Amino acid sequence: MRAIICMSFFIFLMSIQSVSAFEVDIGQSTNHLWEKKYEEMIDTKLYEHQFKSWHHFIQKTNTCKVTKKVKVTVNYCKIHEHYTTEITHLDIMHSKRHN
Ligand SMILES: [Zn+2]
Ligand SMILES: [Zn+2]
Repeated sequence: MRAIICMSFFIFLMSIQSVSAFEVDIGQSTNHLWEKKYEEMIDTKLYEHQFKSWHHFIQKTNTCKVTKKVKVTVNYCKIHEHYTTEITHLDIMHSKRHN
């Protein structure tokens, strides 16, 4: 549920971003006054894969979920009243240990 809220908020911000980028023409040399408004770690599910392991002489098929950790940071500039969204890609994680 939390992930759904987060993603809709994120999409909402992206829509603001595209509008403001169109309307506000800001030069390269302009100074911004960034303020961090929002930061969240999101686990995004990439895919599932299967691997085999032995347990008491019985071969088992296990499912491992691969997720990617993404950090979303939203900054707001007080001077020009615009937002930037930064997405930092962090670790890729496997839910189960395997070779
Ligand atoms: Zn600015
Ligand atoms: Zn895996």
